[in-house]
Amino acid sequence: MDLAFTPQELAFRDEIRGWVKDNLPADIAHKVHNALRLSRDDMQRWAKILGKKGWLGYGWPKEFGGPGWTAVQKHLFEEECALAGAPRIVPFGPVMVAPVIMAFGNKEQQERFLPGIASGEVWWSQGYSEPGSGSDLASVKTRAERQGDHYLVNGQKTWTTLGQYGEWIFCLVRTSTEGKPQTGISFLLVDMKSPGVTVRPIKLLDGECEVNEVFFDNVKVPVENLIGEENKGWTYAKHLLSHERTNIADVNRAKRELERLKRIAKAEGMWDDLRFRDQIALLEVDIVALEMLVLRVLSAEKSGKQSLDIAGLLKIKGSEIQQRYAELMMLAAGPFSLPFIEEAMEAGWQGNFPGGVVANAPLASTYFNMRKTTIYGGSNEVQRNIVAQTVLG
Ligand SMILES: Cc1cc2nc3c(=O)[nH]c(=O)nc-3n(C[C@H](O)[C@H](O)[C@H](O)COP(=O)(O)OP(=O)(O)OC[C@H]3O[C@@H](n4cnc5c(N)ncnc54)[C@H](O)[C@@H]3O)c2cc1C
Repeated sequence: MDLAFTPQELAFRDEIRGWVKDNLPADIAHKVHNALRLSRDDMQRWAKILGKKGWLGYGWPKEFGGPGWTAVQKHLFEEECALAGAPRIVPFGPVMVAPVIMAFGNKEQQERFLPGIASGEVWWSQGYSEPGSGSDLASVKTRAERQGDHYLVNGQKTWTTLGQYGEWIFCLVRTSTEGKPQTGISFLLVDMKSPGVTVRPIKLLDGECEVNEVFFDNVKVPVENLIGEENKGWTYAKHLLSHERTNIADVNRAKRELERLKRIAKAEGMWDDLRFRDQIALLEVDIVALEMLVLRVLSAEKSGKQSLDIAGLLKIKGSEIQQRYAELMMLAAGPFSLPFIEEAMEAGWQGNFPGGVVANAPLASTYFNMRKTTIYGGSNEVQRNIVAQTVLG
């Protein structure tokens, strides 16, 4: 197995590096490098810059307007963006629903929805989970009743990430109660401006409102917004979830955050503590191991071999690593990491911070926020069950 990049791949990396350097706004990179709050405008500004270049849908094939990159090129693009301090692409449009529309949507749906996703103009949300239907996703209860040329949707979704900005939401809805729960689910695209849609933010323990409840009260959804066939939504949902789990592993962000951890440890004097440095070294070994795993998958894809079905494994390792670096940053900064008040998240506040370095804050907020990584995208306990069944046998 050859894990080295070819000269062409290295040249491609240089091209991406140069472009990102010239086009990533410095104020956004500053916020990302220091884990400061990103506004809707920050996230969408970067999305539109990528969209204009044709790279927001960087995983898309050429026939749908994407760059048609290989798996290695996609990996190098993600790496260069992460290391330069670009915000993570909000995945719900370009990474999640777009592949479903490409694979299972009809031509009209592709022409109608894909351009707005590719350009970064339209903000999408994910409406899978409901109260009582998270790990047991097939039990979703939000009803969609066919009434002539539309569905009438009633029910509730929850944990909808950044749904407060959402313009469209893709939903798993129940269209039948016959047979197995999986066979009565459909995949529906809903305009969030429709009468009867209410979004209610949930305040989380990091002080932010990153997730929401979304209520549907007699919402009329045209039947042309149904993807594929009625009651076949479970198949489409699973197609989407494998994209979500690979994306969550985010080894490139871990590499960037490892450097930030080292900066904080040095600034706070913890770098001189051998026991603490052991912890950083162990984390670094795990990040390198995760990267090797990602490169092995890429190498297998390059040589045309069937790649291992390890999306769940990548999700488990990647999410645990994210929690570990957030925890070590907290430990390194000690009491200086404590405030997670509103002002602590604003740029400029850190200038007067007794710890002295911008990189110190808001560490507690990041630590609390990272509790989510082992829950969302399918909890790690459930992923372990899946890995045990499908990889270990
Ligand atoms: C920050 C955040 C953002 C999210 N964003 C979105 C979003 O945008 N859209 C969306 O649709 N959803 C979103 N989710 C929801 C997420 O997918 C669910 O939280 C997740 O699937 C777990 O479901 P649950 O919360 O209902 O927990 P439950 O399913 O009730 O699980 C509770 C506990 O039981 C364990 N458990 C459950 N079943 C098993 C089993 N069979 N074996 C072993 N242990 C088990 C779980 O691991 C967990 O520890 C988000 C969640 C979070 C935390």
